[in-house]
Amino acid sequence: MITLPRYDGRVTRNPNRDADSREEAGDTPSLAALMGFAPLPAALSEKVIGAQFRAVDRMIAFRIALGLLSIAFVLILYWGAAPLWLLAVWSVASLASIVPPMRSFFARRASQYEGLPPGMLWMHAIGMALQGLLWAGPMLLLAPKGSVLEVASLWTMTTCLLAAVAMGFHATPLAAGLFLTVVGGASVQMMLRAGSRELAVTVAAFSLLMLLTSLRQARQFGRQITTDRQLADKRETVSLLLGEHDDNRTDWLWQIDTARRLTGVTRQFARIAGVEAEALEGRSLLELLAGPAWESGQIDQVLHDIAAKFKAREGFANLLVPVEVNGSRRWWELSASPRMDEGGAFLGYRGVGVDMTVQRETEDRFHRLARFDPLTQLPNRLHLTEALGEAVEAMRRWNTRSAFLMIDLDRFKAVNDTLGHHVGDKLLEQVASRLRDTCGSRAFCGRLGGDEFAVLMPDIRDAAEIEGLASAIIDRLSQPYEVEHHTLFVGASVGSATGPRDGTSADELIRSADLAMYRAKEEGGGRHFAYVGSLHVEAEDRRKMEMALRSAIENGELRVEYQPVVNSTSGDLDGFEALLRWHNPEFGEVAPSRFLRIAEEARLLAALDAWVLKTACQEAARWPLPLRLSINLSPEQLWDADLIPRLEALLQGTGLDPRRLELEVMESIFTRDGSEAVRRLEQVGALGIGLALDDFGTGYSSLGCLARTRFRTIKIDRSFVAGAAAGQEEHVAILRALIAMATSLGIETTAEGVETEREVELVRRVGCTRLQGYYLGRSMRVEDVRRLFTRNARQSDAA
Ligand code: C2E
Ligand code: CA
Ligand code: CA
Repeated sequence: MITLPRYDGRVTRNPNRDADSREEAGDTPSLAALMGFAPLPAALSEKVIGAQFRAVDRMIAFRIALGLLSIAFVLILYWGAAPLWLLAVWSVASLASIVPPMRSFFARRASQYEGLPPGMLWMHAIGMALQGLLWAGPMLLLAPKGSVLEVASLWTMTTCLLAAVAMGFHATPLAAGLFLTVVGGASVQMMLRAGSRELAVTVAAFSLLMLLTSLRQARQFGRQITTDRQLADKRETVSLLLGEHDDNRTDWLWQIDTARRLTGVTRQFARIAGVEAEALEGRSLLELLAGPAWESGQIDQVLHDIAAKFKAREGFANLLVPVEVNGSRRWWELSASPRMDEGGAFLGYRGVGVDMTVQRETEDRFHRLARFDPLTQLPNRLHLTEALGEAVEAMRRWNTRSAFLMIDLDRFKAVNDTLGHHVGDKLLEQVASRLRDTCGSRAFCGRLGGDEFAVLMPDIRDAAEIEGLASAIIDRLSQPYEVEHHTLFVGASVGSATGPRDGTSADELIRSADLAMYRAKEEGGGRHFAYVGSLHVEAEDRRKMEMALRSAIENGELRVEYQPVVNSTSGDLDGFEALLRWHNPEFGEVAPSRFLRIAEEARLLAALDAWVLKTACQEAARWPLPLRLSINLSPEQLWDADLIPRLEALLQGTGLDPRRLELEVMESIFTRDGSEAVRRLEQVGALGIGLALDDFGTGYSSLGCLARTRFRTIKIDRSFVAGAAAGQEEHVAILRALIAMATSLGIETTAEGVETEREVELVRRVGCTRLQGYYLGRSMRVEDVRRLFTRNARQSDAA
């Protein structure tokens, strides 16, 4: 995951830095260079001198203290023994000798040790030599005057000085060397004068030892400078490699010790964690990751996992940890492996981290997009199927039962078709929110698409639970909806399947629930149907029926029946409505509602209608009376490109007077492409054919349609007629207003499905022009229609 820039042994990002490091990688500054005798490359010499004086100046307080102590020591030792003036001169000179080094010390500090000239090394050496001489003074001038004890005391003090200078001033070997040589030489001299050759040799040896030690330290110091430089350089390189200078990098290195505390926290890590590196140093990694949750103890599972890995001293890779950085949620992906020393002892962990927040958020967004329906915000088909898959898995593992409910809205198509998709969408949103409320935490609901929804009930105990939820859903969804000033009524049909009985896979359960739902719809909607095995048989029948329907025309299984339409005032026969019938050897007489639905689903309707149109027109052309013929025109047929030429040919071929023909359309034709529908209808009207608006009162914008094209007839739906006859006052009022309006526009009205005398009376009273229904006659076979004519002819002959 972590991608480091390729490193080919050189740091390629900064050529200047590259040049520097090659020079610096050159050898350790020699002793001569440290003494200011041999030149160093300009850039380096400044740094080396700076480092030398830093080391020296660290001793400044000690140096002053030692100086003052020495003066006090000499004064005490020789007070009264040496002439006062000598002591005074010496003390003043000694004190004064501290002043120049102090001044240059402050100057160096002010310059921050930058740009120090090599000459300063010499000045410093001369200063030290002078101080050495000052110290040599008492030894050469005063010691001979004192006792052995005094010589011994002086020597003790001198050894301290020698050792201190050898150690403290090794960074400036010239200064240290001069001081040691001067003071050492004076000491030897003092011993000789005191008359002890052995002591003189010992003192000489000691001074030489100090000198050598100091030089050794100096060389060590030179090497140290180079190592420091190289280390700093390496750190720079590593930091470049880690992209610490690139604030957009999202990966970092981290390490923890055996106590799981962070060590060597990088700048990069600190930046991503939103704190100072120092503040992270030594903090417990797990505590950092857990954030405020650490206190409550409710930490994320992944942290438990990581802790377990730490405990087992195992490595881990790509664990995604949610963390809180400055109050916002971030996602870090951590990988690490245990760290061992050469001996195999455990040192802690070293790992990498990558901030995955952006990826994670994008993923979340995609996940949401892919799994939720944008209109209703409910889980979509994919999400439902996945959830069902999990439920199936749980059923298998724990021997539980789950139910899958499919919900289809009744009459939704009418809303969508008559009021448009915009209203349809609003309605679906309301349906979704009611469904969500009804299911609550009991079940998982979603939208499969269109007006189809589904509910998953995982782990159910008895069938009553399903029945309870299903009827709650039907009740709730069947309450009226208010959408943009329309009050809408839609119902719901529910089909349910219970696993594992009705299916052991998600697909099987969906199919079973779908079949049950189809059945609920067939039963008239507004109800729940639980899957039973026979539904599969029925589905199979439907499939077979579709196959049979495809060849029904060729096999002569279809026929047209004619239902009489009567003039409401005279009671005379006005015409017939052609209705399609299908008799199949295997299925027998199939109800039109059934086979027409199959035909629609199988896109066979237009072909069937064309056959009805032709057959009925040919028949009507032979009728002895100029009666009207009403034929149902499906939307599919209206959109058929050669409908108009076909009608023309038909009228010409049969010689049927176009004014006798009336084509019935449903208002839903206006929704797909309203203006195109109007154009088509006008073309039909231009042929002289009448138009009827069928099933008036079942849609939602019926009156709107009337303004769009010139209808000859409005057919008032049976539900309206029955409602009015049943005494529903508002139905009667609407019926009356509607008929009054139609009459004033010169439009005829046909009341459909008139079944009783009472209904006949009612529709007559409100002024319907024509009547149709079982009370006046069911649809008749063509032979019966013909017989009717001959009987009628015989009767009129007889009269
Ligand atoms: P529709 O156009 O409204 O036709 C009238 C339906 O009402 C017919 O049902 C008829 O038998 C029934 N009906 C007539 N009088 C009464 C009554 O007093 N009480 C009751 N309860 N029903 C009555 P059918 O033949 O079953 O047709 C149902 C629907 O199928 C028709 O409704 C029409 O929409 C469609 N349909 C029938 N034949 C054709 C066809 O050839 N082409 C097309 N596209 N649709 C057709
Ligand atoms: Ca009709
Ligand atoms: Ca009708």
